Amino acid sequence: MSRAIVWFRRDLRVQDHPALANALRDYEEVIPLFVFDEPLLRSQVFGAGCVRFMLDCLAELQRSLAGSGLSLRWRHGDPLEDVPKLARDMRADAVLWNRDYDPVAVERDHLVMRALAKQGVAVRTFKDHMVFEPDEIRTADGGGFQRYGAYRAKWWAKWRAAAPESATLSPSRQSAVPSKEIKPLPSASDLGYQTIVPAIPGGERQALARLRLFLDGPIHRYGIGRNRPAQDETSVLSPHFRFGTLSPRSAVRQALRTLSDRDSQRNGASRSDVVTWIDELVWRDFFHQVLANHPHVAGEPFRAAAVAPRRPDGPEARWLFQAWREGRTGYPLVDAGMRQLNQTGWMHNRVRMVAASFLAKDLRLDWRWGERYFMNRLLDADLAVNNGNWQWCASTGTDAMPGYRIFNPALQGKKFDPAGEYVAEAARTA
Ligand SMILES: Cc1cc2nc3c(=O)[nH]c(=O)nc-3n(C[C@H](O)[C@H](O)[C@H](O)COP(=O)(O)OP(=O)(O)OC[C@H]3O[C@@H](n4cnc5c(N)ncnc54)[C@H](O)[C@@H]3O)c2cc1C
Repeated sequence: MSRAIVWFRRDLRVQDHPALANALRDYEEVIPLFVFDEPLLRSQVFGAGCVRFMLDCLAELQRSLAGSGLSLRWRHGDPLEDVPKLARDMRADAVLWNRDYDPVAVERDHLVMRALAKQGVAVRTFKDHMVFEPDEIRTADGGGFQRYGAYRAKWWAKWRAAAPESATLSPSRQSAVPSKEIKPLPSASDLGYQTIVPAIPGGERQALARLRLFLDGPIHRYGIGRNRPAQDETSVLSPHFRFGTLSPRSAVRQALRTLSDRDSQRNGASRSDVVTWIDELVWRDFFHQVLANHPHVAGEPFRAAAVAPRRPDGPEARWLFQAWREGRTGYPLVDAGMRQLNQTGWMHNRVRMVAASFLAKDLRLDWRWGERYFMNRLLDADLAVNNGNWQWCASTGTDAMPGYRIFNPALQGKKFDPAGEYVAEAARTA
């Protein structure tokens, strides 16, 4: 009997899941696996909210797989040992996974691949996390893009020429796994984290419901709506894209479909707003290819020469950083944003830009302090996207504009939160 392991990582769903779909099509027995990466968890790079969100996503994944007769196995250890060991124990013919582009993950996957090859186990990997992978969009001389505008033009041309297909799941061949045979997942505290109930619920069903809600209305006024932090006018799907409870390809396809839908035309569908929203997913792909092509950005500025003079590290800098973290700078929009982050694990994009610019350009602190803090607090904490945005705000990134891109927190508040509703809401829930 042919047998394959599907190693789930940042793709915690069953729909449009290339590794799972291929395994179910090509092998008689399929064993889903998730490894709680102990070295990564111990590093505490991610916070308790993010870990709990992931656990909720996994709990739903486990139930969905069980409904199709697949029992999710999980390990708490080191993937470098656990994946080859399970393949050996189960006498698997192949291990399939969806690719991850973060430099540490690339290195890990390479080592796992080598260990499996030594055991004679085949490895098959698939594109999943991005719409277009770093290798798919190249400059004329074969390099990666540094300018978003040029990257975007190529991205859309590629989408028009050959939009990526969805992976169709074969119908289940097995009866559901009885619930008493499902091994309960570890709790946050088993993993060394505090139990926090995230403000945004995890799981594939939540992601699809949220997408439907957004596509039914807010996407068609996104150009204006996205700049109103007091309103619920953005998709709030970022934690789902981060953990792969939603496929970005299918989100783009469904967004474009709202334009051909007769009902939505009647209701004032707006192509420019839909394109503006999809452009945010293009930014996401863009920052992933920046990190993949220039791994040094994780930890260093893209351009060392672009770093503006900084306040020296010392008691004053530490005190200012603490005030920023706790939302006590005295600038209402910055403080409201930091409170939203601390309380919910999410912050509106407009306010993220203002808070980041304030730390780097007004307080003149090292942007990496802010980057690390965001990673530890955000439910959508994503190295490539967080780093890319921080470097963009600090003007140290690929398209640095040191003299520009300074967000005046008072003017930003007047313009985007004119009635002070966002600030008032943050104060009320503090
Ligand atoms: C300093 C800073 C740090 C950030 N850190 C992160 C992070 O760790 N993880 C993260 O997912 N986003 C990050 N962002 C980007 C952005 O703020 C969030 O993706 C967005 O606020 C999520 O809300 P939404 O899902 O409603 O987005 P929408 O406005 O509905 O956009 C749709 C999707 O596009 C992507 N997206 C949106 N804005 C951006 C952007 N500026 N860059 C790249 N992709 C984008 C997200 O996946 C988002 O879910 C950061 C932005 C800043 C300024």
